[in-house]
Amino acid sequence: MKDLEIKQAIEQEQKRQKHNIELIASENFVSDDVLEATGSILTNKYAEGYPGKRYYGGCVNVDVVEDIARKRLCEIYGCEHANVQPHSGSQANMGVYQAILKPHDRVLGMSLDAGGHLTHGHKMSFSGQTYDFFGYGVDPETEMIDYDEVLCLARYLKPKLIVAGASAYSREIRFDKFREIANEVGAYLMVDMAHIAGLVAAGLHMSPIPYADFVTSTTHKTLRGPRGGIILCKKEFAEVLDKKVFPGIQGGPLMHVIAAKAVCFYEALQPEFVEYQKQVIKNAKELENTLRAEGFRLVSGGTDNHMVLVDTKASVGLTGKKVEQLLDSVGITCNKNSIPFDTESPYYTSGIRLGSPAMTTKGYKEKEFHQIGMWISEVLHHPEDVERLNKVKKEVRELTDQF
Ligand code: PLP
Repeated sequence: MKDLEIKQAIEQEQKRQKHNIELIASENFVSDDVLEATGSILTNKYAEGYPGKRYYGGCVNVDVVEDIARKRLCEIYGCEHANVQPHSGSQANMGVYQAILKPHDRVLGMSLDAGGHLTHGHKMSFSGQTYDFFGYGVDPETEMIDYDEVLCLARYLKPKLIVAGASAYSREIRFDKFREIANEVGAYLMVDMAHIAGLVAAGLHMSPIPYADFVTSTTHKTLRGPRGGIILCKKEFAEVLDKKVFPGIQGGPLMHVIAAKAVCFYEALQPEFVEYQKQVIKNAKELENTLRAEGFRLVSGGTDNHMVLVDTKASVGLTGKKVEQLLDSVGITCNKNSIPFDTESPYYTSGIRLGSPAMTTKGYKEKEFHQIGMWISEVLHHPEDVERLNKVKKEVRELTDQF
């Protein structure tokens, strides 16, 4: 690469990804094949429209790519229609909202502080600015979704759409219950399965497909593909949805990314993918058990999926921001995260979110995740002890050197 500044930044990032323990729950490491497709010459091609109905010439090869991507995606999830063009998870959600809502229509989604995503109605997001979103939370005791509360809110608010799915929720989500609620109040149901898409693909989490009118996702989290979004829906909504994605909210699709999505879907259809997802869950469970044994308070008491939310304020008296910095200083990367009923601002937070997908891809098993839990405990119980921090940093480096 002739641009030495960018070359150097990429090389530095490669080193960081090699030597840090990556616990950000929404990240993963893609395969060489996904990387190759993402970096391919398909980036040169304009292909507005859909296979067989493009607004540019020369689309014969990219039509093949997009058709394969859509077919594989329908095969993975058993859905009737798939749109693989959204550039991101946020745009996938925008596409669905535009397809069925008008400005100021009422929507019920999980509030950000309880675990929902910005695009589920936060006031700083287009979603909260365009539509009248109301938020449901979690039960103060169990810190799990209280489906009776969701039903009460839905009866009272009569939303046109209910959004299920979350960015920071470590328990199984009962899409069947959401369907019952949506049916009772005559609402559409959209499931944003961005975080758990890989677990659903492997049959390790209840699938939203039989219950939801629309399912959106990112492709880069547990699904382990390139950065991007997808939308699945019933055939009856296919035409209106496709029109809203293009030309409604996007121009030319990123054909190199769609090719990489197709490669990711191929990988998700292999038996090894199920083994990988099983290990993701086992590793998160090991982290849960280790941290609990070390005296940490975990939001909702633990995990059913790939993530663990730790109440650092209650456990060691430190904000999520401080903990994120401390762990970063020893080579462990995670993110601060608000926890339900958080008394700290979203900039500081009372907790952190930890995830197992990325390091499971690198080959870590329970033994390594137990060790990670012990290091986190050591650091957070002795945040001022420079000698201990340096020792953990050295040990982290020794472990990452082996994988
Ligand atoms: N939906 C959920 C549940 C997410 O967690 C995220 C990202 O973290 C998104 C949507 C948005 O995805 P993107 O960052 O690709 O816009």
